[in-house]
Amino acid sequence: MQVISDIEQTRELCQNWRGRGESISFVPTMGCLHAGHLSLIEKAQSIAEHVVVSIFVNPLQFDKQDDFNNYPITFEEDLLKLAKVNVDLVFSPDASAFYPVGYQKVEQSDLGQITTLLEGAYRPGHFLGVATVVKRLFDLIQPHTAIFGKKDFQQLRVIQKLVETFSLEIDIIAMPILREKDGLAMSSRNRRLSKEERQLAPEIFRQIESVKIAICGGATHFVELEQKVSHYLTALGFTPEYVAVCESRTLLPAQAHDKLKVILVAAKLGKVRLIDNILV
Ligand code: AMP
Repeated sequence: MQVISDIEQTRELCQNWRGRGESISFVPTMGCLHAGHLSLIEKAQSIAEHVVVSIFVNPLQFDKQDDFNNYPITFEEDLLKLAKVNVDLVFSPDASAFYPVGYQKVEQSDLGQITTLLEGAYRPGHFLGVATVVKRLFDLIQPHTAIFGKKDFQQLRVIQKLVETFSLEIDIIAMPILREKDGLAMSSRNRRLSKEERQLAPEIFRQIESVKIAICGGATHFVELEQKVSHYLTALGFTPEYVAVCESRTLLPAQAHDKLKVILVAAKLGKVRLIDNILV
């Protein structure tokens, strides 16, 4: 496994593989790896000759400096996990090398409405930052496939829009959400939960599951269902930002006739912001 922070070295290595006609699958991450990330890597390995994992806490996608400063970093542990699963290349650039003009000055890729609703409304600029970093990583690594988790469902839609907008020849593969035994979606942020908060956290999943059951049973009063969950979570001590039943492609409010819907939640528990979703 090669661990490289240098951009030119990374470009050269990936170009060599491509030049030899060998396939590359790419898994972008912000590190602090857990089984959810490893499931994406396993998928990458099953479809490509070379797997590239990036570890980069992208300053451009954090709307709050505090959140960026507190993002958990476990680089050495991450490398041990990646070495065990035989990743070919770990790319971990410095922000200053990755954004040589200074990240505040980087020209960002604007992908329209999908970047401004839901997460975009609560984290202004977040998806511009995500799209910009992912586009740069794609340009550098030029993978044939890239693997993303449905955990960040709106992010997945943003990336699909990015690929469509720039006519990139990259297959985007979406993988299911890995959960803890009690239903809590795995996340690097979970380790910041206190013991009490950790016990409460799976309630988000239980709630969206109950909305799914209601919708599968024929319920179409989506706004009422959203409000009920929001009130319930608030009563338990969460601070919900949104609970939304959406059409799964556009992420606009769902209509009863929509074939595939997604229930999305973002809620704070203490200082930790949790997101989760479920397809219906
Ligand atoms: P992050 O390091 O949080 O930026 O996540 C990197 C990738 O891992 C993204 O594509 C996430 O959607 C994915 N991911 C994060 N958590 C999970 C999970 N619990 N199950 C599946 N994929 C995940």
